[in-house]
Amino acid sequence: MSTLLKNAKIALPGAVRLESLDIEIGKGFIVNIGKNLHGENEIDLSGCEIFPGAVDPHVHFDEPGFTEREDFYHGSCAAASGGVTTVIDMPCTSVPPVINLANFKTKLNVVRDKSVIDFGFFGGVSAQCFESDFAHNMADIAEHVLGYKTYFISGMDTFGHLSFDRFFEVLKAAKQLKRPVLLHAEDLQTVTRLEKIEREKGRDWMNYYRSRPEEAEFIAVQNAIELAEKAGASLHIVHIGTAEAAELLQQTDLVTGETCPHYLQFSRDDLERIGGALKTAPVVKSPANRERLWELLIDGTIDFVTSDHAPAPASQKDTGSAWTDYSGIPGTGTLFPYLYSEGYVKRKMPLNRFLEIISAAAARRYGLFDRKGSIETGKHADFVIVNPDKNYIVKGAEFFSKGKITPFEEMTFNGRVEKTIVRGNIVYDAEKGIAGKAGLGRFIIMQPCED
Ligand SMILES: [Zn+2]
Repeated sequence: MSTLLKNAKIALPGAVRLESLDIEIGKGFIVNIGKNLHGENEIDLSGCEIFPGAVDPHVHFDEPGFTEREDFYHGSCAAASGGVTTVIDMPCTSVPPVINLANFKTKLNVVRDKSVIDFGFFGGVSAQCFESDFAHNMADIAEHVLGYKTYFISGMDTFGHLSFDRFFEVLKAAKQLKRPVLLHAEDLQTVTRLEKIEREKGRDWMNYYRSRPEEAEFIAVQNAIELAEKAGASLHIVHIGTAEAAELLQQTDLVTGETCPHYLQFSRDDLERIGGALKTAPVVKSPANRERLWELLIDGTIDFVTSDHAPAPASQKDTGSAWTDYSGIPGTGTLFPYLYSEGYVKRKMPLNRFLEIISAAAARRYGLFDRKGSIETGKHADFVIVNPDKNYIVKGAEFFSKGKITPFEEMTFNGRVEKTIVRGNIVYDAEKGIAGKAGLGRFIIMQPCED
């Protein structure tokens, strides 16, 4: 039986304005887009807007291993409530980490039936991987992962950072496997030197900020681009918070980058006010930096926006010291609402650019665009349905995530997510809450490369 989404305005790929068209869904796919369609099961969406389901390609759902912070069920419900239909989970914040085939299988077995939205994995290469044949392990998991996460600096005992030499070896191996490398780009030497100085001075938020300044990201991105160019490898810089570092992406076609809502919205001034609820690594930067990041996002220098969803319980976010509070915030549920309100509505970001940022660019980057990332016949029926006339007031206590501490607390966003649909299934409804069952979400892999 087919389902019809009726009477809404829809966002077709590349469009400069929304169009009044109906969408027919059959067996989880978009089978027809047109005017005045009719079918057995019609859903009236008068007054609403339909966008392609948002893709959030940077989440830490922490399962198995750190489920006191988050797990796949709660993380995926949070994502669904904010219009995200596909996430890609990071390899580093689970035990075991996804660094070889056995670990990959262990993690997939644990989480396979827990997600309400579709999900993929990144593999990773840590310092620990160099104790065995890292290239062999990368090859073993290649068909199951959408890229390999690496760090120039790491706060995790279980997932150590790579030297430049080792990072270069990983770039070369990933190139052979036709997968991108993802990098946390902050310069180890700079941060180590400054952190020592600042720790002696105090434990306040400005001490933390000054230990990870703009230059730490700039130097790291500069070095990373040089190594990627030398290896001829595809590289993606995650969570860029520094506009000057993002500008370096204009020099190269091999390296892409993402930023996150917290870098677009907040500055170090807010960090002093908000404290642990805004602690992330990289740290938020200067107020001027924030405005420049928006420009670089809208002009396409920054490719897309991710949440870097990494919640923690209140006890880990308010320890009395900027050094010991957990780095990371919940974000997958507020990612799309934030970008819709602050980007598309308030900054009048062009529709076609908005569609790239929320869905298409990430889907293309990680080999999912044959199925996801736009509203086209033949693709998965993944949608976020928005009521533009309603507002959404952020309340952490109502998050579906295990993490309730958010720097966006009490902010009012224009527009409200009414429904989230994954392959034709309503997984979230603003009136009813989570409507999808655990296990409805499917594990996804990269489309075969052509060459
Ligand atoms: Zn992250």
